[in-house]
Amino acid sequence: MKQLKLCRQCVAKNIIFTRFNPLCRAAGMCMTTVRLAENNSITLSPEIVQKLGLKPGDPLAVEEVNGELVVRPVRPVAELPVKPAPADTKSLKDTISRKNLETGIQYIKGIGPKLAALLEKRDIRTVEDALYLLPLRYEDRRRLIPISSLAPGRSGVFSGTVLSADVTTTKGGRRVFEAVVGDETGTIACKWFNANAVWMKRTWKIGRAGVFSGEVNQFGYQREVHHPDVEWLPEGGRLQALLDSDPVNFGRIVPVYPLTEGIHQKTMRRVMREVVDTFLTNITTVVPPELWPAEFPPLREALGQVHSPPPEADLAALNVGATPAHQALAFDEFFFWELGLALKKRGVALEEGIAFQVTHRYTKELARLLPFELTAAQRRVLTEIKTDMMAPHPMHRLVQGDVGSGKTLVALMAALIAVENGYQVAIMAPTEILAEQHWHTMHRWCAQMGLEVVLITAGLKGKAKKEALGRVADGSARIVIGTHAVIQEKVEFARLGLGVIDEQHRFGVLQRGILRKKGANPDILVMTATPIPRTLAMTLFGDLDLSVIDEMPPGRIPVETKIFFESRRPRLYDMIRDQVNLGRQVYVIYPLVEESEKTDLKAASQMAEHLQADIFPGLRVGLLHGRLTPLEKEAVMASFTASEFDILVSTTVIEVGIDVPNASVMVIEHAERFGLSQLHQLRGRVGRGRDKSYCILMTTGKLSEDGEKRLRVMESTGDGFRIAEADLEIRGPGDFLGTRQAGMPDFRVANILRDGTLLEKARRAAFDLLERDPELKGPAHVPLHDELLRRWGKRLELATIG
Ligand code: ADP
Ligand code: MG
Repeated sequence: MKQLKLCRQCVAKNIIFTRFNPLCRAAGMCMTTVRLAENNSITLSPEIVQKLGLKPGDPLAVEEVNGELVVRPVRPVAELPVKPAPADTKSLKDTISRKNLETGIQYIKGIGPKLAALLEKRDIRTVEDALYLLPLRYEDRRRLIPISSLAPGRSGVFSGTVLSADVTTTKGGRRVFEAVVGDETGTIACKWFNANAVWMKRTWKIGRAGVFSGEVNQFGYQREVHHPDVEWLPEGGRLQALLDSDPVNFGRIVPVYPLTEGIHQKTMRRVMREVVDTFLTNITTVVPPELWPAEFPPLREALGQVHSPPPEADLAALNVGATPAHQALAFDEFFFWELGLALKKRGVALEEGIAFQVTHRYTKELARLLPFELTAAQRRVLTEIKTDMMAPHPMHRLVQGDVGSGKTLVALMAALIAVENGYQVAIMAPTEILAEQHWHTMHRWCAQMGLEVVLITAGLKGKAKKEALGRVADGSARIVIGTHAVIQEKVEFARLGLGVIDEQHRFGVLQRGILRKKGANPDILVMTATPIPRTLAMTLFGDLDLSVIDEMPPGRIPVETKIFFESRRPRLYDMIRDQVNLGRQVYVIYPLVEESEKTDLKAASQMAEHLQADIFPGLRVGLLHGRLTPLEKEAVMASFTASEFDILVSTTVIEVGIDVPNASVMVIEHAERFGLSQLHQLRGRVGRGRDKSYCILMTTGKLSEDGEKRLRVMESTGDGFRIAEADLEIRGPGDFLGTRQAGMPDFRVANILRDGTLLEKARRAAFDLLERDPELKGPAHVPLHDELLRRWGKRLELATIG
C-alpha cells in the first residue's frame, strides 16, 4: 500500500501536497500520512476535512505536478473559511502584513485570558515573541521503541498497556503514584510525585493502552519514566491511527519548550504550532540575499525548522542550537545589532568635534618628570589616541589593558593634550577609592607643572563642595576626577574637551552619553582593566575604536598564585609573617556575604580582630570596609600606603585600582565566591613593586568540581585575557561582570559564546554594507533600515539617523 503525506501548512493554504516537497520543507511543517486504499481512494483525516471546511461530496481537484500528486478543493480561495479575525485586529489583509507579528498573543486561537496571562510571565506578549521562543531541547519521537530497548539516560517513546497503577510509599516516606506499562517485549515503571492519586487512578486504568514518552532513568535494576507524556488510544483504536492523528506530539522530532508554572508542555506545543502555522508566512528575510550566508536557510524557513525540525534533522545539532536553522536566526540577530553599532559609530564619525593640536607643552614635560620610559604598547596606544584627538570628529575609543599595564598614565597623557589646547578633562572612576587614587597619581605630576586637579566625590559637602564646583565652572580646574558625581547636573564645566571613563563595564552606556553632553562633543576615552573577550567587546563596545595595551612595564615579576585549603592556614600565617619580616605588606580580602554590607563587615572586622589579637599580636592590622566614610577610607589607605600597618583586612571595596607597590601578599578568603575577573583584579593589587609577590586563594575543602576548575585557572595563568575568556565560558555573558546592566543586548537566539565566529561574520557583513551604502538609502536597504529601527532604534538611540 502506497503512503501519501499531507502537509498541514499546505492544507492551511488550501493545497494538499502529496509528498514532502521543497515548499513544505521550507516551512518545516510536519505531514500527516494517509493511505491509498485498494480502490485507489484516499481518506482524509477529520482534522483536515474540518480545517478546509469540506463536506462529503465536495469536489476536489487531483492533478499531477512535477511528479507530485496535488489535491485541492475546487472552490475560490476567498470563499474558504478563514480564522475568525480577533476582535481588534482588522482584516485578513492585516494578517499578511509584517505588523501583524505584533498581534497580541491572546488573540490566537486556543489562547484564553488565563493562558495569555501565563505566557506573559515568560514575556510572551505578541506573536513575534512566541515565534522567537525557541525550544530548550528536542525529543526524538520519530519511532516507537520496544519497551525492552528503552535506554536509560535517553528519552524514548513507547506504546503499551497499563498493567498496574497505584500509590506507593518510598523508603523515605514519600508518596508516589506508580503505574507499570508493558508491551510484548517488557515492562517499565511510570512515576509521579505529588500527583492527585484519585484523578490518576481514574485515568490510569488497568488495560488502557496509549503512547508514552519521557526520559528513561535507571534505579538499580528498575527502569523508570517520571511524569511521562501520554496519549491514550481510543477504545479499540489502532495505534497507527493515534500516531497519525496527533502529529504535534508524536511521530516526529518534538520540540520541548521552556515552561512557566501552569502551562503544560503539550499546551505549549499546541500554542506554538498554532502560531507557527498561522504567522510564519509573515516572516521575511530583510537582510539582502548577497549578505545572507549561502549555507543558511532563509529566515522564515529557519524559524519553521527550529519549531518543527524536518524528520531527517540532526538531533544532536538541534539540541546544542547548531543547526543551520539556529545559526541563521543567530546571524540575523547579530547582523542587526552590529548594523546598529556600525551606524552609530558612523554617526559619531560624521559629527563635528574638537580638532586638538599636539603642542607637546605638557606631555613632553611629564615625560621628563617620569622616572621611567613609556612602554612600546603605551606609546602605540597614545599615538592612536593622538590621531583621534587631532581629527575634527569626536574620539570614541576603548583602551583595554591588563591590571598594571599603565593605563592611568596613558589617560593622563591624553588629558594633557586637551589641557594644552585650553580644554578641561573629566575623569570618571567607578569607586571613590579609585577616584582618589587617580587623583593622587595625577595631582602628583600635574602639581609640578602648575596644573590644578580637582577631586569631586559624593562625600564632598558644604563649602568645600561649592568651592570645587566653582573651580570646575570657571575653568581653573584643568582635570576633574570623581565618581559618577562628576556627571551630576550641578557639575558644570567651563570647557570640557575630553571625558575619560575608567572601568567602563561598571557604568552603563548611559553615562557615556551624559558625559558627552557635559561639553560640546568632547572626545571620549574609555578604559578597562578587565580584559573583555573579543566577542563580548564587539557586542558591548562595537561602536568604539579599540586599543590594547598588551605589554607590561618592564621588571614585573609574575605573582605566584596558590590555592590553599583550610588545613593550610597555619602555613599561610607563617608566610605572612615571613613577608612582613622582609618589610612587605599584606592584604586580606573578604567577599560580600549575601550582598549584605552588615554581615560582610562583621566577617571582615572579626577577622581583623582575630588576626590582631590571636595570630599577629606583634604586627599592625588595619581594617577597610564599605561603611567607612570616604574620608575615613582615604585615611586608612593613606596610612597603609605609608606603611603604618602591615596587614590590611578589607572587604571588596578595595577591588579596583589601588596601588601600593610595597604590598606583596594578597590573601583572598572564600575565593570560590568571587568571579575570575574579580580575582584577577584583586591579584593585580600585588606584584606592583620589584619583589616577588604571592596571591593565596583560601577556600574550604567543599569546592565543587567547577569551583575548583575556576580557581585552577587562576593558578595556571596571569594573562587577563585568558582569565576573562574562561570566566565568560564558565559564567556566561549575562553574569560576566554584570554586563547585563552594562548594556548587553538580550539576544533571543544568538549566544556570543557559542556563536563567536558567526558574530564576526555578521559584524563584517554589517560594516561592509555600510561602507557601500553609508545611509542605507539603496532601495534594497530601506527595509533593513526600518527593521533596524524597529529592533534596536530605541536601545541604540538610533532615531536620528537617515
Ligand atoms: P593600570 O591602571 O593599567 O592598572 P597603572 O597606570 O596604575 O596601571 O600603572 C601601574 C603601575 O605601573 C604604576 O605604579 C605606574 O606608575 C607604573 N607604570 C606605568 N607605566 C610604566 C612604565 N612605562 N614603566 C614603568 N612603570 C610604569
Ligand atoms: Mg588603572
